[in-house]
Amino acid sequence: MILVTGGCGFIGSAFVLGWMRDCDEPVVNLDLLTYAGNLESLADVASAHGTDGDGRYCFIRGDVRDGALMTALVAGRATDAGGRPTPLPDALVHFAAESHVDRSILGPAEFVSANVVGTQVVLDAVRAELEKAPRPFRYVQVSTDEVYGSLARDAAPFTERSPIAPNSPYAASKAGADVLVNAYAETFALPALIVRCSNNYGPYQFPEKLIPLMTTRAIEGEPLPVYGDGMNVRDWLHVDDHAAALWAVLTKGHLEDRVYNVGGDSERMNLDVVHDILAQLGAPRTLVQFVPDRLGHDRRYAMNHELLSGRTGWYPAHTFREGLRDTVQWYRDNEAWWSRVRSEAYRAARELYLTPPSA
Ligand code: NAD
Repeated sequence: MILVTGGCGFIGSAFVLGWMRDCDEPVVNLDLLTYAGNLESLADVASAHGTDGDGRYCFIRGDVRDGALMTALVAGRATDAGGRPTPLPDALVHFAAESHVDRSILGPAEFVSANVVGTQVVLDAVRAELEKAPRPFRYVQVSTDEVYGSLARDAAPFTERSPIAPNSPYAASKAGADVLVNAYAETFALPALIVRCSNNYGPYQFPEKLIPLMTTRAIEGEPLPVYGDGMNVRDWLHVDDHAAALWAVLTKGHLEDRVYNVGGDSERMNLDVVHDILAQLGAPRTLVQFVPDRLGHDRRYAMNHELLSGRTGWYPAHTFREGLRDTVQWYRDNEAWWSRVRSEAYRAARELYLTPPSA
């Protein structure tokens, strides 16, 4: 049985969907449902596998910083909203985080709290449980290429041995979490792996990140704000390829490797990505509006994933061309989804109906 945190977010929900499709084991999903968490992304999973289905899926609304709740979940003695006990996990994938760089520039404190303190609380829950009841277990920390900082134009892609040098408060908070995971593995022999991936894209991504932001704005005929000169380079990874990489790490990763890089072999300049989106939508390039650069904006990221590929046989299966085409089409077909997640009405309804009684 697997416990995931942040399973209602973009990547976590893709992972849960893939897990339910490819594996018979149950999943418990702990998520706070911040603005980025969305129950709708897993509505089909909940109806087929929730309490009215085969019972393999259990959702718990809660905060990773709630030590008592995390301890109960890792020990298999939490209860869901209907009072049913949660199963005992033998793995935990920690997705939950504040994930948007721009928001971290506006307010770093919540990023340190959710990403660093949150990770420490989750690690302590796992440590306490494994000390009390030792058993085979695997902890996977979902991290980012941003912990390595900015890569020079002609430099070789980051490897797992590249030094950590984060530049944004978001990246610093993720790096802080990574070094904590490493410390718990060294000090307490916690069976932990860290997976650092490049920029993800795909369906159900909150429309504040580059590809869904530009796509939804272009669909609406709104100006597309591009930072600086638009020449920043990102290595794009389809979210389903990331989910497959996490599965490979869980089942075939070697604990002694500790860190695996994951990349999509798809380096692209932001402006080229925006132009591709416009072309697919038949919208004019005049919609592009260059805006002052993001503070501390890293110029380039690129990932060397040879270690993971050599160990597990994992390779990205999506080409960026096809993945982007399908993603833009998904946003075209699912305007109701992104209009709703953006709207204040949706957030207000969520607060009204889903706030736990103790909050
Ligand atoms: P997201 O913002 O879409 O989702 C985050 C999820 O975590 C949401 O469902 C939210 O409700 C939940 N959450 C936030 N704080 C919480 C808390 N305190 N307790 C419980 N749940 C909480 O993020 P994402 O894009 O799916 O990213 C998932 C993970 O992958 C993050 O750790 C992120 O740093 C990492 N990552 C993302 C990318 C990317 O391109 N999106 C790239 C590299 C790494």
